Amino acid sequence: MKLTDEQFLADFAEMSVCGATPGGGVDRQAATPEDHKTRAWFSGWLARHGFTESVDAIGNQFGMCELLPGRPWVLVGSHLDSQPLAGRYDGAYGVLAGAYAATRVLDQITDQTLNPQFNVAVVNWFNEEGSRFAPSLMGSSVFTGKLPLEKALATRDHVGVTVAEALGGGTVAHGPAPTLSEVAHYAEIHIEQGRVLEDSGINIGLVDRTWAASKYRVRVVGSQSHTGSTRMEDRQDALYGASLIITAVRELTEEFEPGRLHSSVSELYVLPNSPVTVAREVTMNVDLRSPDEAVLARAVEMLAVRVAECEARSRTRVLVEPTHSWGLLAYPPAGVALARSAARELGLSYTEVMTVAGHDSTNLKDVVPTVMLFVPSVAGISHNEMELTRDGDALRGVRLLTEVLGRLVSGNPA
Ligand SMILES: [Zn+2]
Repeated sequence: MKLTDEQFLADFAEMSVCGATPGGGVDRQAATPEDHKTRAWFSGWLARHGFTESVDAIGNQFGMCELLPGRPWVLVGSHLDSQPLAGRYDGAYGVLAGAYAATRVLDQITDQTLNPQFNVAVVNWFNEEGSRFAPSLMGSSVFTGKLPLEKALATRDHVGVTVAEALGGGTVAHGPAPTLSEVAHYAEIHIEQGRVLEDSGINIGLVDRTWAASKYRVRVVGSQSHTGSTRMEDRQDALYGASLIITAVRELTEEFEPGRLHSSVSELYVLPNSPVTVAREVTMNVDLRSPDEAVLARAVEMLAVRVAECEARSRTRVLVEPTHSWGLLAYPPAGVALARSAARELGLSYTEVMTVAGHDSTNLKDVVPTVMLFVPSVAGISHNEMELTRDGDALRGVRLLTEVLGRLVSGNPA
């Protein structure tokens, strides 16, 4: 039985029950019970639709269809984990769209309208979001050799649980999962998480470049003391120091033209976090992104100067540790051309777009020929329960991904 568009929407609604939140979103941080529930749902879906499941040591989940034993794989997918109190579409849409595209390509092979040159696998990359276990893009970073497996497995969340423990203490891996050297192509579709497409009324974004990003862990170290009795001139208030830095990070963007620099501090751990005690230490993240590497480099320099000023003013010590960065890198032009040709054939409107957010394809594109597609996000809202992609846009994306995947699997990009 061929899968219909209605079935896609019904499956998406059913999957969205996993980790559902009262405001209509989901909360499925990596390797939490909610993430495991979603993975189990997807595992069942794969089994019902003829895929063989395998999971690698970092928890990347594959639905494999080996058509030509020994031949390389075309991977298609995204991620099922989410930020806390997030939307239903970020990542999860791309995994289910990938599963539907793969199923439809397999139908074409059965109908003998497509002659495969490669095997096909759907993938759910582990811990794309990095909210519980930093850094983000963890599963695809291990897969592409950018992050050692042991280091990823030993990463702890804020209550001390390791990735290895959260994944089930070594019991997660099973089956012969594909490895990087066996992958011929990768394709991913994702919601835009911005409003370029919606503002211009265009169906599809062909992702041709990433914004550059630099992320840091910042520790502000002060001295614990009494909030009432300690003289103001004696205080070394880590939370005050942190607040100066938060303001400096935000105000950095005012030094550049609008849209040239995005910055945030979005996470804060305060010790001892007690009402009558001046904070001795604050740990927080700093996230800087730009569509121009020169702007980002200038921002990083300016930030160092301002952090030193904040340090002196608050009488604290500030330690800045880079945690994750990527440059302004192009997606393979051949993949953009393939997607453009496929969109044209289906009569979809399209435009080249940069991605501001990181994606698993950001990793994959550096090592295998990769195609990355966007569908519109209503009002550009993401990492929020209100995140929405309209059904028509979601279904158009599945159609295009099917066409792209078919061309990749048949080895016929034209
Ligand atoms: Zn995502």
